[in-house]
Amino acid sequence: MAKETHEFQAETKQLLDLMIHSIYTNHEIFLRELISNASDAIDKAHFESLTDRSLLEGDEAFQIFLTPDAEQHTLTIADNGIGMNRDELIENIGTIAKSGTKAFLEQLKKAKEENKDLTDKEMIGQFGVGFYSAFMVADHVTIVTRKAGEKQAWKWESNADGSYTIEECEKAERGTAITLHLKDAFCGKEAEQDFTDNYELERLVKKYSDYVRYPIKMDFTFEETPKDKDGKEIEGADKIKKVETRTLNSMQPLWTKNKSEIKKEEYNEFFKHQFHEWEDPMEVFHTKAEGTVEYTALLAIPAHAPFNLYQTDYEPGLQLYSRHVFIMDKCKDLLPDYLRFMKGLVDSPDLSLNISRELLQQSRELKAIGRALEKNILKTLSRKLKNDREWYEKFWNEYGKSLKIGIYNSIYSGSDTVDKLKDLILFLSSKEGKLVTLKEYVERMPESQKKIYYATAKDKETIEQLPQMETLRDKGIEVLYLLDPVDEFAIETIHQYEEKPFHSISRGDLGLDDAESQEVKKETEEIQKDNSDLMKDIKEALGDKVEDVKVSSRLKSSAVCLVADEAGPSLAMEQAFSQMKNPMFKAQRILEINPHHELFSRLKEIHEAGKDSQDFKDYCDLLYTQALLIEGILPENPVDFANKVAKLMAK
Ligand code: ADP
Repeated sequence: MAKETHEFQAETKQLLDLMIHSIYTNHEIFLRELISNASDAIDKAHFESLTDRSLLEGDEAFQIFLTPDAEQHTLTIADNGIGMNRDELIENIGTIAKSGTKAFLEQLKKAKEENKDLTDKEMIGQFGVGFYSAFMVADHVTIVTRKAGEKQAWKWESNADGSYTIEECEKAERGTAITLHLKDAFCGKEAEQDFTDNYELERLVKKYSDYVRYPIKMDFTFEETPKDKDGKEIEGADKIKKVETRTLNSMQPLWTKNKSEIKKEEYNEFFKHQFHEWEDPMEVFHTKAEGTVEYTALLAIPAHAPFNLYQTDYEPGLQLYSRHVFIMDKCKDLLPDYLRFMKGLVDSPDLSLNISRELLQQSRELKAIGRALEKNILKTLSRKLKNDREWYEKFWNEYGKSLKIGIYNSIYSGSDTVDKLKDLILFLSSKEGKLVTLKEYVERMPESQKKIYYATAKDKETIEQLPQMETLRDKGIEVLYLLDPVDEFAIETIHQYEEKPFHSISRGDLGLDDAESQEVKKETEEIQKDNSDLMKDIKEALGDKVEDVKVSSRLKSSAVCLVADEAGPSLAMEQAFSQMKNPMFKAQRILEINPHHELFSRLKEIHEAGKDSQDFKDYCDLLYTQALLIEGILPENPVDFANKVAKLMAK
């Protein structure tokens, strides 16, 4: 087959551009990335060989080999892993399957446009780029690869200018050899960093890849003076070259070491290697258990939530090992879904090596381990919440949504998740604009307050301007701000906290029973009675847009607001559902009018002139649309609204 030229996918091109122009200054990590890929490829070959030994073609000594060549300006990283065929080369190297890429690139662009002070490290930390990091140090990359069990080998080449070529080639051993043609800055004695220097490479392997389970080898060449039979150097003899192959990494799995012997940096490096992370994790859990089930677990909370954490293509799960031998990646059956962000591995002699996924799911041991890990993680989280608020808020900002979704989903699973999580959730509150727990809220509630009040909107500013907030603010009542669509669902699922029910400030009767509120309520009822015809006629003019029209007791300076009735979904929930393209819920909207607003008397005048007049109808419509806008909901017919306002202004 002739040499074919392919274009990179648009996103890949963008990513390559970023690599070439080095958004990341720590160039040396390319080696860790390529070694990780090589070790993953060997894992795969190993795993498949468990059922088909012939795949290994008699070569069972798994290894990764580094070959620097100072003269040619190259560094080759070769593995005898699974290899790739032509389609896989195109699929895995030419395109970026991860849906996060687009989001990552967009975010990067936005941050640059807004001149945000986001360091490259922070950005890239949320998105590993693996193979492409080769282009930080190389201007030309060649991959020669042959898939285990197949005859044909393939050569892939690119200088990252937007395209790559693929052609047939010969390769005796299975696996992949990646040759980097190094940029001048990374080759030779004068270079910024010399990636053809044996000792530099050895240092990097020790630093980043010491725990790789397979030997990472390299040839060291020495010049030696020949010795006589007594072991004495022969004077004047020509030096001879000696080549020695050394294994650079210790290969001892980190988790098998004693906790007290492990330094924090070792954990950090291990995680970056093992899980293709770019930043140190937020927290590491290393536990050993002996008893009914024996296991070692090494888990971590990554520094940042991945972009696709809540998308269907995100694959949660932990790695499983049995007696240090890899069994499975992404085992979902250990931790509950609300801990989907956890990365890590479990090594247990009680798990069988050749077990199928289905049987594993039902395994009693696995369930027991999972329960213990969950308990341990939750314990750590509540300890952190108590003792290290700053850490916890950082954690919350990254992963809080996951816990809230967990609470909401417990209505399906019927589990006790609500009890486990209700003390771990935080909301922004009107008091001091800080994040608070439900416990903190309830503890400082005045005696007379019977409910936990909350408001929903897309941001803090919108909530603070909600007409309904005025009364509560004046009375000094704390309100929780629910800013994410999932929040209200979570709150509704918790239902009540320490017997205090939750109450949306945009819903039904606020239930305030201090003397002043009672007074206002009585007065409102009277006004309502006196104006029952007006209310009835507004309702008639608005048709089925609203469920009811009432005189309001919760408004101070605003003319109108929309509230939902006691039961049924709220306006915010309706919005959330319609965004999910699932408009199955419609909130029962009640239009409330402020009887003390000057607009109310104007409305009365127009009403008296005749309820069938166009003016009255227009007024009703405008009132309703205003109330919608305050809630952040666009009117169905903005043009009509604009025309009516214009007409009114011209009067
Ligand atoms: P990631 O490793 O995060 O999936 P990469 O861009 O590093 O992303 O690699 C993309 C894919 O290319 C890998 O998932 C793997 O399928 C394939 N690949 C990369 N390096 C090798 C290798 N040495 N041997 C076999 N396959 C590889």
